[in-house]
Amino acid sequence: MIRARHRPTPPPQGGYWALRSFARIATLTAWLSVALLAPAADPPEIVATNRSVASFRPEFQVEPIAPASIEKMRGISWHEGCPVPREDLRQLKLSYWDFNQKPAPGILIVHKDVAAEVAEIFRDLFQHGFLIERMAPIENYNGSDDASMAANNTSAFNCRDVTGQPGNFSNHSWGRAIDINPLTNPYVKGDTVLPPESRQYLDRARAFPGSILGGSFIVKRFQRSGWTWGGAWTDRTDYQHFEKPALK
Ligand SMILES: [Zn+2]
Repeated sequence: MIRARHRPTPPPQGGYWALRSFARIATLTAWLSVALLAPAADPPEIVATNRSVASFRPEFQVEPIAPASIEKMRGISWHEGCPVPREDLRQLKLSYWDFNQKPAPGILIVHKDVAAEVAEIFRDLFQHGFLIERMAPIENYNGSDDASMAANNTSAFNCRDVTGQPGNFSNHSWGRAIDINPLTNPYVKGDTVLPPESRQYLDRARAFPGSILGGSFIVKRFQRSGWTWGGAWTDRTDYQHFEKPALK
């Protein structure tokens, strides 16, 4: 066997290495632009998987609030001095997928001007399989936002102040704000987490049943109808909250 004589590699030519470096930079730049410009993948989500329940007819109805319910609201979710007369509110009958992935009936009270579009949004959420634990008017919790949040109850109208801002009506007072799965989707400001039981849901990279994560279907669907998501606010983060104030 004749061994090839070892020949030292000739020293690199300057032009060759300049070309290689240029090619590398060009490749890196192309990769970076793809990485930066590519749309972010949708965040993880747990949705209802079996969405064909033969005997169930989903409902997305807008109705006037029944007189008995209007009376029940007085002194609980509504009182003299509230910015909206109760007659301007509507009762939505909305189907949703509960946390057992079974269809369930819910009631949401919102302002008449957003009633039809909210019903449409919840129709789309239902078709998407978004999970909601429960949905009952705040009167069922004696008007207590704390109790409603702790129960993970989805609700909208409640004539009350902005959390942490006494004397300042929240958009819930107009029926133009909705809190969805408030236990799973906390309100966070500094060290304050509401409801207090929701600290276990602070890891916003993980999907829990009913999570509202940035870039998810529910956020995009509300935004498409001109609603703002509290999870994108910077002074506080209100993951459960969507609102659409009236134009001034
Ligand atoms: Zn809210």
